[in-house]
Amino acid sequence: MLLDLRPVTSDLRPKKSLGQHFLHDRHAIARIVAALDAEPDDPVVEIGPGTGALTKPLADRFARLVALEVDERAIEVLQAELPGLDVRHTDVLDADWAALAAELRAGEHGLTVVGNLPYYITSPILFALLGARRHLRRAVVMMQKEVAERLVAEPGTKAYGILSVQLQLWARPSYLFTVKPGAFSPPPKVDSAVVALDFSDIEEPDVDEDRLRNVVRTAFGQRRKMLRSSLKALAKQVPGAIPEAMQTLRPEALTPTEFVKLTQALFDG
Ligand code: SAM
Repeated sequence: MLLDLRPVTSDLRPKKSLGQHFLHDRHAIARIVAALDAEPDDPVVEIGPGTGALTKPLADRFARLVALEVDERAIEVLQAELPGLDVRHTDVLDADWAALAAELRAGEHGLTVVGNLPYYITSPILFALLGARRHLRRAVVMMQKEVAERLVAEPGTKAYGILSVQLQLWARPSYLFTVKPGAFSPPPKVDSAVVALDFSDIEEPDVDEDRLRNVVRTAFGQRRKMLRSSLKALAKQVPGAIPEAMQTLRPEALTPTEFVKLTQALFDG
């Protein structure tokens, strides 16, 4: 299907405080829409439509599209350019994904999410999506390249950390492609990248999420220290202990699955 990639024209002055870097590279826009890998009747939610660089081709393709935007000026532009678009004045961090999924009749299939994210809240958005994963099918999101690299990082690397462990346990992240600053107006200071997160058919680990998060955050909070030292205080408060073989390891040495085992050993004894 041919997409109409003529950009929405607007002289909206970008607000730095809202992370507004409007995408104008047609090639990148077309690749993001294609990467959704969704059918025309799939329900789609766009995070931060701005002046509609992605929204327009999305609206051409998907009948059930909802866009969540905080900037009222952008909403006005969108409503003028794309009458009929369901754009809501909502902070994405307050979004009720369960209600959206029900309203858009996403059913078992789940929602498809897309967005050129406001970079100042990339991590909170990623954690919100993880929390909502039961209602989601796939997310295709643009973020800082450095954060994208963390999502897919392997144990033992510098980029491996909290985001890698949690995203790799509860989703399947894949790094799709890099986007240079010149693709945006105004250009951001850093390279960007588009990442896909798949939420379907994930074998959920048998572990309490809050406990795992606590262990991972505490361990990476002092990433240069051995686990026996960084987790010392936590280990005193729980019935179990750090397995012998893990005592002298640093957190980046543990795979996401080993973090599950460590959490089980600490909390279940
Ligand atoms: N999608 C547009 C594009 O690609 O050109 C704009 C992307 S711009 C990087 C991020 C967008 O997210 C802006 O339109 C901004 O107003 C919006 N935004 C910022 N904070 C938000 C929030 N908390 N909830 C929803 N949208 C937000």
